[in-house]
Amino acid sequence: MTAAVRAYIALGSNLDDPRAQVESGLKHLARLRQSAWRGASALYRTPPMGPAPQPAYINAAAAIDTRLSAHELLDELLAIERAHGRIRDGSRWGPRILDLDILLYGEAVLSDARLTVPHPGIAERAFVLLPLFELAPDLVVPGRGALRDLVRNCDRTGIERLTA
Ligand code: ATP
Ligand code: MG
Ligand code: MG
Repeated sequence: MTAAVRAYIALGSNLDDPRAQVESGLKHLARLRQSAWRGASALYRTPPMGPAPQPAYINAAAAIDTRLSAHELLDELLAIERAHGRIRDGSRWGPRILDLDILLYGEAVLSDARLTVPHPGIAERAFVLLPLFELAPDLVVPGRGALRDLVRNCDRTGIERLTA
C-alpha cells in the first residue's frame, strides 16, 4: 500500500451564494475517498482576478492526506465542481460556481497536459497564499521557496478574512 500524501487544495467561488458553495466544497473534500481530512482555513472575500467586471470571490484552502494519485485527485475535484453545477465554457478566469485546484501534492513537481503541480499561480496569488499560510505556515513551495516569504511579498489589497 502506498503512503498517504499531504495535498493542499484551493477553493474559490463567485456565483450562486459563493460562501455556501465553498462551504459545500469543503464538506465534499472532507468525505473524499481514500483520503483523510486535515482541516481548512477560514473563508476570505477577495477581489476578482480575471476579466472584470465580475463579483467578488470567496476563497479558502484545505488540507488532506490522500492515497489518490495526483491525477485521481484532480478527477475527484473536477467531479465535485460538476456536482456544484460548474459548466466549462472554455474561458479561463471568468465567473464560476466552484473552482477546486490542487496547490501542492506532497513535494511533487509535475507538469503535463492536464495537471501542473505546484499550481502555477500559487506564488502570485494572495487569495491562495493567505488561506494556505493559515494551514501550514512553515511550508516550502517546491521551486518557489518559503511560503512565509511569498506571503510577505504578496499584494493583499482588498482581501478580507471572514470570521464565522
Ligand atoms: P487557474 O488554473 O489559473 O486557477 P482555473 O482554475 O480557472 O485557472 P480551470 O478552468 O478550473 O482553470 O481548469 C482548467 C484545467 O486546468 C483543468 O481542466 C485541469 O486539467 C488543469 N489544471 C492544471 N493544473 C491544475 C491544478 N494544479 N489544479 C487544478 N486544475 C489544473
Ligand atoms: Mg483556479
Ligand atoms: Mg481550476
